[in-house]
Amino acid sequence: MIVLKFGGTSVGNSSRIKEIAELINNNQKKIIVLSAMAGTTNDLVSIASHLYAKEHEAANSKINLLENHYYKVVNELYHSSEFREKASGMIKSHFDYIKSFTLDMFTLFEEKAILAQGELISTALFHYFLQEQNIKSVLLPALNFMRTNEEGEPDLEEIKVNLNTEIKSNESSDIYITQGYICRNSYGEIDNLKRGGSDYSASLIGAAIEAEEIQIWTDIDGMHNNDPRFVDKTHPLSNLSFDEAAELAYFGAKILHPSSILPAKLANIPVRLKNTMKPNLEGTLITSESDGISIKAIAAKDSITAIKINSGRMLLAYGFLRKVFEIFEIYKTPIDMITTSEVAVSVTIDQTENLASIVEELNKYGRVEVDSNLTIICVVGNFIAESKGYAVKVFDALKSIPIRMISYGGSMHNVSVLVNTSDKVKALNELNVKLF
Ligand code: ASP
Ligand code: MG
Repeated sequence: MIVLKFGGTSVGNSSRIKEIAELINNNQKKIIVLSAMAGTTNDLVSIASHLYAKEHEAANSKINLLENHYYKVVNELYHSSEFREKASGMIKSHFDYIKSFTLDMFTLFEEKAILAQGELISTALFHYFLQEQNIKSVLLPALNFMRTNEEGEPDLEEIKVNLNTEIKSNESSDIYITQGYICRNSYGEIDNLKRGGSDYSASLIGAAIEAEEIQIWTDIDGMHNNDPRFVDKTHPLSNLSFDEAAELAYFGAKILHPSSILPAKLANIPVRLKNTMKPNLEGTLITSESDGISIKAIAAKDSITAIKINSGRMLLAYGFLRKVFEIFEIYKTPIDMITTSEVAVSVTIDQTENLASIVEELNKYGRVEVDSNLTIICVVGNFIAESKGYAVKVFDALKSIPIRMISYGGSMHNVSVLVNTSDKVKALNELNVKLF
């Protein structure tokens, strides 16, 4: 069995939905994981924030706009009145449900229930479309099997048991359809795997069923060697190792959700990135093997904040770093980069919700400086053969750009530098010239 995940743009309108129906119509046994149609989750987020703010009029007008958009999709997608009626009825019931929240108290629980509607609708639309085309398929509700634990992390053991039970009771089917992104938490409430989480769903599903392959279908032809939004003539990479792909995804390559590599890596299931618009292109294949090319790709991650703790006295002592890290742990804030000297330690973070509290705590250990509007530029590849001077090439390319931090040697796949965001585009282009 293989897993195919189609992102928001791949199901973004009625013709796209028809295209993917054609694409999946073969004898291969498969689970299809769908995102919400492009734009829907953003609209639902904005509806929810109006409801939080008790702006019922604004919420209602956004709900009506979105609902009408779906009736248009229904009219374009189905040719028979039977399926137009069925699908319209389905849309109406989802939107009646969303509207029911405009009357009551609005909390995180209601917000998550609203956010789940996008994937519930896209999968139901697709399921009806396959039915109208006489293509047999079974809808597996993600809320029946996708689970997170008390920490809010996916519970792979439970997902495995639940999903395999669901499949067993529909064993004769070749095509299963399910929702990405949505799940239930440890209290059984509707929850989600955070924005962009459909890739993560696909990877967890692939791991749970020990799939032959996990395919992530988007609107670009694989992971590129540099950011196509800022650099001309980038090209897709044909092979990446799990570690290389994880570094690129984490440090800014938008094509793949950063968490989605790990389940596939642990279960050693190849991940293929494919372009829905150009299905014949090879895309990028991510496996446990690295193909040995030395420098592969560059990615950039914005909105980085650097925190420097100056403390000549404490740094000499062991246990200091533990105390520093504990503060970040308490505030559930991951650290991306770290550098140390005898008198100071610098770290970077990209989640700043608890920055003020973190700084207040850190102040007990030394003088703290905070810098924002920074970007991590990450060069990924195979840096084992350092004698060939790859790291030197990176720094040579960046010689006209002020560098705030450098991270090298943490893994064999990554050289990262921290620069001002205003220097990002220049840095990406200079690196492109010197490295490729
Ligand atoms: N629909 C969700 C989002 O827009 C999940 C996803 O598409 O991956 O974030
Ligand atoms: Mg995505």
